[in-house]
Amino acid sequence: CGIIGYAGHRPAVPVVVEGLRRLEYRGYDSAGVAFVRQDDIHVVRAMGKLAALEEKLAHESVTTPTCAMGHTRWATHGVPAERNAHPHCSNDGSLAIVHNGIIENYQTIKAELTGKGYTFTSETDTEVLVNLIAERRKTSPDLLHAFATALREAHGAYAVCLMDKNEPGVIYAARMSAPLIFGQGTGENFVASDIPAFLPYTRKVVFLQDGDLVRATASSYEILRLEDLSPVSHETQTIQWD
Ligand code: GLU
Repeated sequence: CGIIGYAGHRPAVPVVVEGLRRLEYRGYDSAGVAFVRQDDIHVVRAMGKLAALEEKLAHESVTTPTCAMGHTRWATHGVPAERNAHPHCSNDGSLAIVHNGIIENYQTIKAELTGKGYTFTSETDTEVLVNLIAERRKTSPDLLHAFATALREAHGAYAVCLMDKNEPGVIYAARMSAPLIFGQGTGENFVASDIPAFLPYTRKVVFLQDGDLVRATASSYEILRLEDLSPVSHETQTIQWD
């Protein structure tokens, strides 16, 4: 399973699909991508190999978005099926998320959200998390705060990447007990489960720590602590291998 997020200047969907291919060694049962197009989050998902996802993408116009994220899923909650494949969207359609890992207390959160009228189209813990972020956003100053608040409530292991249809050039990401690496390019930035996903584009990386949150655009990024959103400055390292 793997995730990749991209904010840059290239057509993002091909970059993301290529990145997923370089993460294939991690294993998966389905794959998907999300990108903002005409003010809406567009999600394309497919069971099986990346070729099946590419086949679907061939029927889409995907050359314009310069920001996107992708996922290969190794099912833990809900059978391998297209409806359980990531990305998952919030009920209001404003947010999309990809997630590797497990949210252990998702049933408790799901009960709270169901009580508030939320509905779910998958059996995943992930769809619960993206709706929790949407719910917490109602009482937060911005998405970063809502993201952090929701993640502090979610117990378990995760690497996540989040997109907001109202901020088409921005990717949000976070990790806890699951791998996630930031790649700093020139006029483009990446997050991914492993370095090979973005190695053709940059060798400058930041090894994110548990409890790190990232907000990145094509030309800027910030890393913050989940506890209090205080900024952190991890050293940028240069990868020497191919
Ligand atoms: N728990 C999530 C799911 O079952 C993520 C699985 C993964 O790590 O790919 O969909």
